[in-house]
Amino acid sequence: MAKFIFVTGGVTSSLGKGIIAASLAKLLQARGIRTTIQKFDPYINVDPGTLNPYEHGECFVTEDGAETDLDLGHYERFLNDFTSQANNVTTGRIYQTVINKEREGAYLGKTVQVIPHITDEIKRRMLLLGKDDKYDIVITEIGGTVGDIEGLPFIEAVRQLQWELPEEDCLVVHLTLIPYLKAAKELKTKPTQHSVKLMSENGVHPDILVCRTEEPLNNEIKRKIAQFCNVKQEAVIESADASTIYEVPLMMLREKLDVITLKKLNITNYNEPDLTRWKVFLDKLKYPKSKVTIGLIGKYIELQDAYKSILESFIHAGAMNECKVQVVNVHSEFINDENVAEKLDGLDGLLVAPGFGHRGIEGKIIAVKYARENGLPFFGICLGMQMAVIEFGRNVLGLADAHSTEMNQRTPYPVINMMEEQKKIKEMGGTMRLGAYPCEIKEGSLASKIYETTHISERHRHRYEFNNDFLEQFENAGMIASGVNRETGLVEIIELQNHPFFIGVQYHPELKSTVENPAPLFVHFVTASKKYNEKRTSFKNPLMQSELI
Ligand code: GLN
Repeated sequence: MAKFIFVTGGVTSSLGKGIIAASLAKLLQARGIRTTIQKFDPYINVDPGTLNPYEHGECFVTEDGAETDLDLGHYERFLNDFTSQANNVTTGRIYQTVINKEREGAYLGKTVQVIPHITDEIKRRMLLLGKDDKYDIVITEIGGTVGDIEGLPFIEAVRQLQWELPEEDCLVVHLTLIPYLKAAKELKTKPTQHSVKLMSENGVHPDILVCRTEEPLNNEIKRKIAQFCNVKQEAVIESADASTIYEVPLMMLREKLDVITLKKLNITNYNEPDLTRWKVFLDKLKYPKSKVTIGLIGKYIELQDAYKSILESFIHAGAMNECKVQVVNVHSEFINDENVAEKLDGLDGLLVAPGFGHRGIEGKIIAVKYARENGLPFFGICLGMQMAVIEFGRNVLGLADAHSTEMNQRTPYPVINMMEEQKKIKEMGGTMRLGAYPCEIKEGSLASKIYETTHISERHRHRYEFNNDFLEQFENAGMIASGVNRETGLVEIIELQNHPFFIGVQYHPELKSTVENPAPLFVHFVTASKKYNEKRTSFKNPLMQSELI
């Protein structure tokens, strides 16, 4: 049986619990301790798949096709390890299980209650990943903030486990905020004291406090926090603001978060942390030798979290290229034939993002046309690939009003169509084509050069697909299906011949990009954008070229 660490948050949301949990996991992993992380979310949706990205940011899809919280993306990017459905549990899923069991008669006439039935189900799931000797440590991040009504059953479950498990097998890390009051020129510990008091009222006592702060915590402050919150002074960990989330594991290493964790869990058999690859990545990230500007066209561009994995993939791919990737938002709703050149001026690459629904579609198609005609590197993901197909259908093949049936059911040329097995599905939650599927790549294609193999597996989340009735027509005109799922015939990759870099994928390569394994498509897209930038800037101003070196 593994040991268990629970990470809770207090005072306010957005303190970065997910990053702290992932950083601690990274440090433990770097010391040779097999660690995984899971997220328990107190909301009632069964999974975040039906949540608007404005509500909850991106929906992260795992290999096994679970639609999960975006924190799982951080876990994978940090640990370079896959998570699964078991790593993300919501109140909705807990209740669904308990209610289904009640309907089956599993409770034998008993009144089904939050305590013990809901808490028992929470505990069962909290312990699940620790059962089969795959991990030495399971870290559970509890979503929300202590004191939230909906979070109470989760805190109660932690209380029970703290009591049930051997003392050295269970640890609670509480993340809080130490605000700095400018007027008083002082760091204030009271909100943290209150937060710990609230935890104590619920019967849970934190072992370690990770304190988010804008100012360094001196020993005096640390002592005060320790004394009033009843933890050892060495268990008060400073978590200063970082320039990048990838710096946080090293900051936590300096603060000895891993050492105190291991001590409390009575783990004595561990190595010196091996973070060589991580540090190489960080160095490249911090000291880039060149810079490119990529335009991101999407529907939720005001919201950073909506395209989290894409933005992180650019960070990984940028570091690999020793190049700073500046991602700028492009509002497709305001693009038309007249202003497209001006709107895309200054870009070295164009990424059309995944999405649903018809808003801003025509602007996207115009932007794709510009990229195709002007040799601007283009990368379309899911909906972005579908836009490239529609654009090519309309403007190269002359299929007037070609469209996806998602946006126009009566289009005369449904070049993007709903998948057959999707047609009979009525429910929305968890019913798309989800998770990892294999794809076979055509030899000699751009995709095969990028992946350096002909067999890959990538993750999906879509209902519509390239309509194979049109395939021959497209291929004859120069847009080829360079990646296909052999079993179903679904087109996975399209690319243009006679263009420096024009590729669209039906899947989501951003979901598998990690610090130690950047997604090849992103890496090559950045490389292509670098080349474009060199040409663009030397053409505009030959003197500027020197700046790039
Ligand atoms: N709306 C499109 C589909 O369902 C694209 C989905 C996506 O971009 N994830 O096929």
